[in-house]
Amino acid sequence: MESKYGFIMCVCTGKCPGFSKMDMWDFVNRIRVELPVEYAFIHPQLCEEDGDRFLHDFLQAKRKVIIGACAPSMQKKLFRDAFSKAGLSVDTDLIALDVRDMTTNEAFDKVAHVVESIDKGEK
Ligand code: SF4
Repeated sequence: MESKYGFIMCVCTGKCPGFSKMDMWDFVNRIRVELPVEYAFIHPQLCEEDGDRFLHDFLQAKRKVIIGACAPSMQKKLFRDAFSKAGLSVDTDLIALDVRDMTTNEAFDKVAHVVESIDKGEK
């Protein structure tokens, strides 16, 4: 693998019932401590205008990212412009994961599985 991925958890304002089964702080802490990612952090609402501005600045680093949030098809639609403006593509530089309605362990296992696949060159 050329470089490690970053991980962003988008919590949909923190009030979305889809994330009520997990402890999102524990989840993101486990990812940053236990998995070979470059970093992991929480953003409140990536698909809002300030989220766009954030992604525009943040993606200048050209690092590939895994985003834990809503449906992958929705994420790709919502983030396409921001990735494109940064010279990246949601098809090759984003791994979009749906982590709604999961417990902390279930969501962690899903991310761990993807990171393992990346390490093995399967992604
Ligand atoms: S990207 Fe998805 S999870 Fe994040 S705020 Fe928008 S709708 Fe919610």
